[in-house]
Amino acid sequence: MGRGSMGLSPYIAAFRDPDRVARSLELLAAESEGLRATFMEVCGTHTVAIFRHGLRPLLPAGIRLISGPGCPVCVTPNSTIDRAVAMADLPRTTVATFGDMMRVPGSRSSLEEKRSLGADVRVVYSPLEAVEIASATPGRTVIFVAVGFETTAPAVAAAVLEASRRGLTNFFLLVAHKTMPQAMRALVTGDKIGLDGFICPGHVSTIIGAGPYRFLAEEFSKACVIAGFEPLDIVEAIRLLVRQVREKKPDVAIQYRRVVRPEGNPRALEIMYRVFEPCDSEWRGLGWIPSSGLRLREEFRAFDAEAQLAVEVEPPRENPGCRCGDVLRGLVNPEDCPLFGTTCTPDTPVGPCMVSTEGTCAAVYRYGERR
Ligand code: SF4
Repeated sequence: MGRGSMGLSPYIAAFRDPDRVARSLELLAAESEGLRATFMEVCGTHTVAIFRHGLRPLLPAGIRLISGPGCPVCVTPNSTIDRAVAMADLPRTTVATFGDMMRVPGSRSSLEEKRSLGADVRVVYSPLEAVEIASATPGRTVIFVAVGFETTAPAVAAAVLEASRRGLTNFFLLVAHKTMPQAMRALVTGDKIGLDGFICPGHVSTIIGAGPYRFLAEEFSKACVIAGFEPLDIVEAIRLLVRQVREKKPDVAIQYRRVVRPEGNPRALEIMYRVFEPCDSEWRGLGWIPSSGLRLREEFRAFDAEAQLAVEVEPPRENPGCRCGDVLRGLVNPEDCPLFGTTCTPDTPVGPCMVSTEGTCAAVYRYGERR
């Protein structure tokens, strides 16, 4: 683990202090002696942090960490990307999206490729930017590709409310939001890994709190700890997971107490559910999962690009060589994919897990996996 704490506030630097992390690792080694346990992180920011700080090789031999479906761009299926690509061909249309989505290859093309061929595809940093574009260009159709988990959905909902307030009729969402707890249910229901618990996502939990994970402890006896993103956060979270497994008392603990409240953020949840409602959703690698997505409520259906803008979309097809689906389920490591580091690199990505900065393949490529 590198020192890497220069320029940080003293508060955050403390969570990267190598001596404190080393001490916590020693305690983890003692507390987990003789134990074999497998934990999954389901947040792309955790995945990147774990690889960036080289944590996996520092863990006791019996503790296995695997990465799950924590990258929102990666779990977005080809069918959605293909629809966004097709919408970019509509006349007088602007497609706006977050940067990571640009290079994700769909079945036949990507948004970046469409832009290089002349389509108006723009990177925005917030959904409100897309609302501003729609306001400024009333003669154009503006479609925002809404990808992300509960962390992002409230901001997108606020953008819909703003578009509604302004009376915009040229602003639309291609909604691909997903909600994490239902995906975790799918993972443990068809568990082929032998998971003992989850490092629960820090950012998502700031919105939803601890309650939505409770079924994992109560129905499936899985340990759950909501963790922060610094090295000390992650090691401390693993210690809490080990304690739950050792004591056979699965629970939902919050290690990231400086940010996450048990009840989450009620105001953000209220805005999110005022605009969206749960729906079944397709996840790359996991297939269709009941109630794991969000769709616009009936009163906001006028903003629904899929309902309002007809496009021809050919049936999706997967790149047969890409094992992103298995990587997202934690069944294989990126290096198990024959294309990893050869045909597929961050400069020439074959699958979304190598495109997104939060993708496991990109994280392993950039920082290396040592165990
Ligand atoms: S290395 Fe590339 S091709 Fe292989 S699973 Fe990852 S993204 Fe897909």
